[in-house]
Amino acid sequence: MSEAAAREARPGADPAAIKAQIVEYCKRKGALAVGVADLEAIDRVAPPGHRPGDILPNVRSVISLGVGGQTQGAWTVPTKAFAYFGSTEGRAYSIAYGCSFFIESRFRARAIYCPPDMDPEGGARIPLQSLKLHAELAGIGARSLAGDILLHPEFGYMYYASVFTELELPPDRPLATNPCPAPSCVDMYRKTGQTPCMKFCPVQCLSGTIDERGRQAEMRYEMAKCAELTQQYEAVPEVLAEALAAGDAAARERTLFDPDASLLWYKMSVGSGGLLAQCFECMRVCPIATRAPLADPIRRAQAADRKD
Ligand code: SF4
Ligand code: SF4
Repeated sequence: MSEAAAREARPGADPAAIKAQIVEYCKRKGALAVGVADLEAIDRVAPPGHRPGDILPNVRSVISLGVGGQTQGAWTVPTKAFAYFGSTEGRAYSIAYGCSFFIESRFRARAIYCPPDMDPEGGARIPLQSLKLHAELAGIGARSLAGDILLHPEFGYMYYASVFTELELPPDRPLATNPCPAPSCVDMYRKTGQTPCMKFCPVQCLSGTIDERGRQAEMRYEMAKCAELTQQYEAVPEVLAEALAAGDAAARERTLFDPDASLLWYKMSVGSGGLLAQCFECMRVCPIATRAPLADPIRRAQAADRKD
């Protein structure tokens, strides 16, 4: 450890300076946005059993980071291929994992990568923690009319990960303004009663209202409809149950090798994130997700060129 780093690691080091080092680490590893959520605010919103202290008992700070979503090209692929594109959430988790090691080794304080996984006592759709809540309160995303997907005014659509630590870090505030609905979405809503995400959702599971000032008044999301189309958590046990119940070997073989099941085995064998959940049509038509100033690598490179 350098002398400067050793000085930073001493008890009593400036929390703002420590936070700056953590933010710098995450950005160097590829995060676009990093913030610290107010722990008390999380505890007011998250239900018992799903608060940061339920995972790390002496937690003092929750760090949230976001990585970029799709490339610009990925938004243009046909629907049947779209499910296989763009998921960069694994990168967000890798950075969070590395960050927890960075905090422990540099600052001698306990830290964990917050598991993004489901609560084993709650089934396939109840997460241990809400990474979305952490990101929202850390000020790196705001809830949209598209089923509460978080959007950022500059980076558009991101994937999020969280780190918990016993270090005390100064919290950030939620975004002052929500980029959703975009002005063009308000125009469309005034004319048709729907925004682009509502109109182009294949199962029409999104609805809501926009007030006279052009802000979100109400957001409705029918999760079961979206989940039926996009999520396949229960597909494997269903196929296996059908195969076990088959009357004879030929029927069992037909069940296990029919085209849908074959696709499932294929996705599992290649470890495709598309096995679990994707559709993206609501985001493909979203002007913030696809056209925010720094929404994709091309826009970010062009912005960097303009700075030079
Ligand atoms: S992911 Fe697909 S089904 Fe779900 S809300 Fe978006 S467009 Fe609708
Ligand atoms: S298309 Fe995007 S910006 Fe427009 S209302 Fe839907 S989520 Fe919000």
